[in-house]
Amino acid sequence: MELRLSDPVSEVRGVGPRYLKYLNRLGIKTVKDLLWHFPFRYEDFSKIKKIKDLQPNETCSIIATIDKINVYRSLRKRMPIINAKAFDDTGTINIIWFNQLYLMKNIPPGTTLSLSGKIKAQGKKLILSSPAYEIISRQKLDEDFFEDLKHTGRLVPIYPETEGLSSRAFRYLIKPLLDSSLNLSEYLPDFLLKKYQLSSLETALKQIHFPSSLALSQKAKTRFIFESLLFSQLYLLKIKRKVSLLAYPKIKLDIEFLKSFVKSLPFSLTEAQRKSLWEITKNLTERLMNRLLEGEVGSGKTVIALAASLLALNSQYQVAFLAPTEILARQHFEKFKSFTKNYRVKIALLTSSEARIYDQGLEGKISKRALNTIINSYLPIIVIGTHALIQKNIHFNRLGLVIVDEQHRFGVEQRKKLLSPNAVTKEVPHLLSLTATPIPRTLALVFYGDMDLSILDELPQERKKVITKVVPPKDKEKVYQFIRAEVKKGRQVFVICPRIEENEISPLTFSAKNLISLAEKINYEVKAVKKEYKKLSEDIFPDLKVNMLHGKMKSQEKEKIMREFQENKINILVSTSVVEVGIDIPNATVMVIEGAEHFGLAQLHQFRGRVGRFKYQSYCFLFAESSSKTIYSRLESLVKYNDGFKLAEIDLSLRGPGEFLGTKQSGIPDLLMNSLLNKEMIEKVHQVAKDLLVEDYYLKKWPLFSATFKDFIKENRKG
Ligand code: ADP
Ligand code: MG
Repeated sequence: MELRLSDPVSEVRGVGPRYLKYLNRLGIKTVKDLLWHFPFRYEDFSKIKKIKDLQPNETCSIIATIDKINVYRSLRKRMPIINAKAFDDTGTINIIWFNQLYLMKNIPPGTTLSLSGKIKAQGKKLILSSPAYEIISRQKLDEDFFEDLKHTGRLVPIYPETEGLSSRAFRYLIKPLLDSSLNLSEYLPDFLLKKYQLSSLETALKQIHFPSSLALSQKAKTRFIFESLLFSQLYLLKIKRKVSLLAYPKIKLDIEFLKSFVKSLPFSLTEAQRKSLWEITKNLTERLMNRLLEGEVGSGKTVIALAASLLALNSQYQVAFLAPTEILARQHFEKFKSFTKNYRVKIALLTSSEARIYDQGLEGKISKRALNTIINSYLPIIVIGTHALIQKNIHFNRLGLVIVDEQHRFGVEQRKKLLSPNAVTKEVPHLLSLTATPIPRTLALVFYGDMDLSILDELPQERKKVITKVVPPKDKEKVYQFIRAEVKKGRQVFVICPRIEENEISPLTFSAKNLISLAEKINYEVKAVKKEYKKLSEDIFPDLKVNMLHGKMKSQEKEKIMREFQENKINILVSTSVVEVGIDIPNATVMVIEGAEHFGLAQLHQFRGRVGRFKYQSYCFLFAESSSKTIYSRLESLVKYNDGFKLAEIDLSLRGPGEFLGTKQSGIPDLLMNSLLNKEMIEKVHQVAKDLLVEDYYLKKWPLFSATFKDFIKENRKG
């Protein structure tokens, strides 16, 4: 019977209850899931030799027949050691295996084997130690023989390690499956296969598991990367198109107003700010906005968000501005007030601890209920707040624009709530997401392809370059002296403690065990901060005011310390990497990062962006625990470059996409991950997806393709 890709994996020959359990645990439920479990590398056993030609230290394969086989036990550990002698028509060779007693029964004298491994010299003799083996029957030694091998004598696939399923087990299941009669109808449109020279589905599957050459396995991979990128691009473009069809708040294009607002600012906008503001304005007035404003710390995103807010107010809409912390909400509130002195706008602040309102130059506390009544009315107002803004009892009646600062901190659900259509008008509010993570354009296409992108790739001019140094352990003392001198001048210092790599925890393998280790990690980080705090406050700077901030503190306690730091009541603040991004401490001039090698370059650059925000010369010291050359040269990139996008690109190419993205984006197939380094391919596929949709939006011309695409959506639906 011909198996189909959608059939349950239990139909596959060789899958019994035990394998089924382990396969299911890996999420492998169908024939397709099994075939799409790709190897991550290959062992090259393709060199086949005669025994007399063997050389020490080469990795190769031989075909030989067992002559003698016996077992003895190692003296100390009593481990069984299998000793065999095998021959071919040119000579004999000794073979040993450790701890595999069953071989005595499996390969008695007379058995012919294909053996692969590394040849070793033992005195004058050659020996094969723990080779991979595969039994072959004499009759089979015909032309097709090598085709049938799965563990030896070829490029052998190595699969990711998993409990209960070795690479050998996967080969045992997959090889016969690929050779059996399997319904592998091609679903990619023919013209795409031709135009981009992609392998057919059948060839690609065979070559990715059991390649005839590395080049062909690469070609197979390219096909799968191409299709997963294509499906994800189609998906995102379709979302984008759906968004563009929704009813949206009609915001008037008021160029005169924008000009006068920009003129009223205490600085002139950068070119990048002007360009982004124009993109946003056009978008707001023409169709529903779903836009990411990307710009590193200090690039001036807030004022752009404010300009957009004012446009919405002028058209009688309300604005909600979500900040990740109270401190940041308050900071935005202050900025908004000071930049709108010449205008009659209402601005409110809503956090879990307070509500305030500012109206025509006057500011005061207000009860949450009173504020809620205002929000509930149709009054145009900008409400800046934390999660308190999304609580059940808060209800906007004429929400036109939602701004989310540091978008990743808000869950999909929370954003959805604010972005649900207005009950009466059915209008969906515009969305502007602000992020300081410099995501290279191609990555943004893959992850945020449903959003439009505005980029602030330029800092306001007067900012001083932060002097950056990679500090080996022996020079720490000098840095401490330097810090003391800065504090004496009245300046302030951040010390960031290393975190543990989060990426060890992948949601794909999420389990109670992982949860426990996650908790342990948080504990570890807290410990690291406490230890560093103790060291700095007691041993090194007993005369200075040192304080700390970490994830285990109550949010009120954290806010209090941040406020004291802002007011210069604390000289040195020790914290984990979670210190609020975006916080403005103009007086801070020194950023010390402990264990800098544990962070990505883009993230280090973000930390560095917290100093150098005022007229003082600022410094960033990167302490590395390790003295490895590669680590130092990676960190030196920060000394060399001051551009977040450039650093992100370097990081991406040095550490690879998995590390670069951390766990946040996990759940993306490995293959797609790998494709992220291939810019040309991403751009190309993006265009292909656009063209396909133009030609036939519902993909009806290609029924199999369309059906596979639907399956893809089912498996990968965003939040
Ligand atoms: P971020 O992009 O990190 O959110 P902010 O919007 O907080 O940056 O801006 C950082 C600081 O730079 C703020 O004090 C802001 O008022 C100021 N700023 C913004 N744009 C300019 C500009 N074009 N010229 C000078 N200063 C600016
Ligand atoms: Mg900001």
